[in-house]
Amino acid sequence: MSKEKDKEKPKEKPKKKAGRSLYKIDKSGAVTSTKRSCPRCEKGTYMAEHFNRFACGRCGYTEFKRKS
Ligand SMILES: [Zn+2]
Repeated sequence: MSKEKDKEKPKEKPKKKAGRSLYKIDKSGAVTSTKRSCPRCEKGTYMAEHFNRFACGRCGYTEFKRKS
């Protein structure tokens, strides 16, 4: 009966500018820097950056940042 729920934001196509995506946000809301990829997973798997470490959301690999 109620079709009100169909009234959501119109689906906008994500603007894809080649070579300009520095970050992407995964389902958990973690910002993934495209700079660091997971050494365990195949290419294209990027690790989420945390304040003191990088973590792969796929295999769980964690790499701690070095204190400089
Ligand atoms: Zn991984």
